[in-house]
Amino acid sequence: MSDETMPPMIEARNVSRRFGAKPDLATKIALKLRLAKPPSTVHALDNVSLSIRKGEVVGLVGESGCGKSTLGRVIAGILEPSEGQIIWRGKHRNSLSPKERHAAALATQMIFQNPMAALNPRMTIEDIVSEAPRAHGLIPKGGRRDYVDRYLRLAGFDPVLKGRYPHQFSGGQRQRVNIARALAVQPDFLVCDESVAALDVSIQAQVINLFMELRERLDLTYLFVSHDLGVVEHISDRVAIMYLGRIVEEAPVEEVFRRPNHPYTQALLSEIPRIELTKRRFKAIQGELPSPLNPPKGCHFHPRCPFAIERCRVEVPAKREVAPRHWSACHLNDEAVTSTGIGAVAASGASM
Ligand code: SF4
Repeated sequence: MSDETMPPMIEARNVSRRFGAKPDLATKIALKLRLAKPPSTVHALDNVSLSIRKGEVVGLVGESGCGKSTLGRVIAGILEPSEGQIIWRGKHRNSLSPKERHAAALATQMIFQNPMAALNPRMTIEDIVSEAPRAHGLIPKGGRRDYVDRYLRLAGFDPVLKGRYPHQFSGGQRQRVNIARALAVQPDFLVCDESVAALDVSIQAQVINLFMELRERLDLTYLFVSHDLGVVEHISDRVAIMYLGRIVEEAPVEEVFRRPNHPYTQALLSEIPRIELTKRRFKAIQGELPSPLNPPKGCHFHPRCPFAIERCRVEVPAKREVAPRHWSACHLNDEAVTSTGIGAVAASGASM
């Protein structure tokens, strides 16, 4: 378990990430002469802050296209932020020495959604798992086989099969190979991007249990990116909810599930099918996720929010601590403090 008195292992501070086509020379000239429109920009992340302590499992949840995978990639170092900073063990990642940067890159590994696409189909499992540790000098001389076997066993994969190729295995076994490959460089921190989403439900449970076992055995820290609240509830210590490039709510897992504050979180939770004695009406969130090419002004959720007020259309809500370690970015919390109380907001959300 994580120690709350420790400084974060990794921290995203006010990170924004935009994607857009770089204008060529002709377009630049046309833009200067006002003969062309500026190229479209995707606002994937907008001023996001998130910290993760050693030993913690943080679940990052949101609809497809909300920017959670982009945040995972920025935190893993695969993408650079357009603005903001990534702090690794107290130091700005861009200020690390080459040696420190190399160590930080090895200590952070990513496990992707599609286990087949992440594996080279022309390499045997043994070569796949040993490639990176060999390149980084982590395998003792003459110890390649034992080294590979150890990490395959840790990932629950029978080393007897290591001479075969990825296409000869099921999705669950391939994902175990991906996990073994990530573990083989001895990381401290794993970013799992929808790592169980492509697996059968029974295999999902096995792989989630494997992640939990590995956390205990290897003292790992996780950022677990998923659209599946059920998976996140099972695995996480803390949950961050994303909506269109912003984190709208963040709290310990039991707090999010018992007392969701943000209307978007309340709507997401009301969509989870549950077996209950008292029937609760299922109500889907209305409308589509707006385009990140042109996100709505003010609170990004306002076109779909049943509680939106005028202020929501113009002003970005600030994150407010609504309970210990429970943060939410909704104007209703300001209104609630001055008038009806935050409990009234949560109660009204429960009937969405
Ligand atoms: Fe809804 Fe306004 Fe809160 Fe956004 S700030 S979630 S629009 S009430």
